Amino acid sequence: MIESDMETSAKEVKFAADRMLGKLVKWLRIMGQDVIYGQHLSGYGLIRTARMEHRLILTRDRKLKKKQPPDFILIESDDYRAQLRQVIQTCGLAPLDKAFSRCVECNLVLRPRPKAALEKAVPAYVFSTQENFSGCPGCGRIYWPATHHQRMIEELKNLESG
Ligand SMILES: [Zn+2]
Repeated sequence: MIESDMETSAKEVKFAADRMLGKLVKWLRIMGQDVIYGQHLSGYGLIRTARMEHRLILTRDRKLKKKQPPDFILIESDDYRAQLRQVIQTCGLAPLDKAFSRCVECNLVLRPRPKAALEKAVPAYVFSTQENFSGCPGCGRIYWPATHHQRMIEELKNLESG
């Protein structure tokens, strides 16, 4: 349950996660969700940023409620899969709809990168076997559908049905 009466639209929801939730953050970003996260995001820092940017807080801090935060989800489990499931169900997210559209490190939306420009940027094997590449406008990291991709898709599918 989101602890507020405010209606949250699944399509527009953005998150601010406290620093205990690193693995959950990574997986939400793999799903393409907008999640900010960092050392400065705890206690009042988290509340201030979430309020300013209209973000839904994800926290494991039971005491946060006393600080009069904006909307938040109290994450119950220690296990990232259970955490993900809780967020997906509470917010009505579709795990695969926007999957692999965001940089896992920077939280920025990836942009398509023409293959021709990447010959020196990726391993030769990848260049010769892959056609579709995207890049992060922040860190410059190049992404392509690789073997681990399939494992992640399986994992997300399991969450969807679970
Ligand atoms: Zn990046």
